[in-house]
Amino acid sequence: MDNLEQNIRQLVEEVIKSMNLPTANVKKDSKLGVYSNLNDAIEASDIAFKEFTKVTLETRKKVIANIRKTTMEYREILSKMAWEETGLGRWEDKIVKNELGINKTPGVEDIVPETFTDDHGLTLVERAPYGVIGSITPSTNSTITVISNAIGMIAAGNAVVFNPHPSAKKVSAAIISLLNNAIIEAGGPVNLVTCIDEPTIESAKALMAHKKIAIMVVTGGPAVVKTAMNSGKKVIGAGPGNPPVVVDETANIAKAAKDIVDGASFDNNVICICEKEVIVVESVADKLKEEMKKNGAYELTGDQIKQITALVISDPGRPGHEGAANKNYVGKNADFIAKGIGLTVPASTRLLICEVDKDHPLVWTEQLMPVMPIVRVKDVDTAIDLAVACEHGFRHTAMMHSLNIEKLSKMAKIMNCSIFIKNGPSYAGLGFGGAGFASFTIASPTGEGVTRARTFTRERRCTLVDYLRII
Ligand code: NAD
Repeated sequence: MDNLEQNIRQLVEEVIKSMNLPTANVKKDSKLGVYSNLNDAIEASDIAFKEFTKVTLETRKKVIANIRKTTMEYREILSKMAWEETGLGRWEDKIVKNELGINKTPGVEDIVPETFTDDHGLTLVERAPYGVIGSITPSTNSTITVISNAIGMIAAGNAVVFNPHPSAKKVSAAIISLLNNAIIEAGGPVNLVTCIDEPTIESAKALMAHKKIAIMVVTGGPAVVKTAMNSGKKVIGAGPGNPPVVVDETANIAKAAKDIVDGASFDNNVICICEKEVIVVESVADKLKEEMKKNGAYELTGDQIKQITALVISDPGRPGHEGAANKNYVGKNADFIAKGIGLTVPASTRLLICEVDKDHPLVWTEQLMPVMPIVRVKDVDTAIDLAVACEHGFRHTAMMHSLNIEKLSKMAKIMNCSIFIKNGPSYAGLGFGGAGFASFTIASPTGEGVTRARTFTRERRCTLVDYLRII
């Protein structure tokens, strides 16, 4: 263990032991909103929701502003806590991820009313909260999913009960207490966000079944989305992906290579939108690999590819079967993974790349780690066909590097994904170096796409017959 890691471990242990740090400076209760019983958490949020309906929109805006301010202050310690507790990703990248979500998740301004007028008067359509939302969050984006969902759901007027991933329960509880302190300070009710301190799959199911939970918002792998969709409740389901990136012969290869390494290695590839396999036209394949190596990639060859596959894949994916990665290597650094096959690579290595054929399990399995298969194909149409197939119909995210407008349009259309990024790294699709807002709940199975405050509202119409037009 290096010095830095040791220091962080010590710091985080102190934080967790005291559970005071997130609230130390705001002089408030460090366990606000954190319950040991799920029913108590839901009842408390139900009361908070009713109180929140009486709060003005101006106060709601102040609550969101204070959540942003407070979580920004604690973004670094929260990133280190998440990294320490889950063992996933890179804490420096998590700081960037937290900043993105804190600053760019839409707030109250996203709730826009609509009006219709005609000879019969005026109709107003407004966006109302659902009530108490149940939110299940993943281990991979543990801090920012709670923060970003809370911003969007509260901006829409809801209360939220979180069932965080069990392997991120401590940092999630710290965030919940931090959020409650920020909410109260800005004039909102206590317990607008709650969680339980020992979340489990059973508690997630109990949340889905509870009478007082109006809708479920589920962010995670295939099992939890499927379970929620069978719960009988309305579900906003954000499931897995396996985002392909296609590079054709017209692309700016040096830029494409840098973008792919940057996107695929960000937080060690744990984000669902990160590039998971490269499909490149053969005439530019060698150049692409060379450029990737200049940007922090290390190429594995021959037996190394067989060994790494055996190491990191526990259930090989293939057409019609999404497979699964070996959890011991999910979100780890490239040099740690290389060590697993007895290979020493520079600690600065961001991504392990390996050229494989199109049927290789690395292509068809969502690895969530910095191991990137590269498939060489004869032309761009073949590349697009393979991209569609290995995305498994998740319709989640895909990327293309090309200057051919016809092929860019073809792939964007045929992939039919929630996010499609042209000529940029994957995170540009979340508003980092790309236009638009951020969210870490991308609802592909249920169709809401990149969720935002208005996603968490229900429409209500009020019609006033014959009067109140002004022309
Ligand atoms: P996970 O599915 O293991 O866990 C997610 C949450 O679901 C956890 O809180 C877990 O306790 C709960 N859970 C798991 N199985 C359950 C079941 N059968 N019943 C009830 N609850 C259950 O996911 P993870 O490993 O933490 O996250 C990685 C996965 O999530 C990847 O597949 C990734 O693509 C996906 N993901 C998707 C998005 C998105 O926005 N679409 C965002 C982040 C992660």
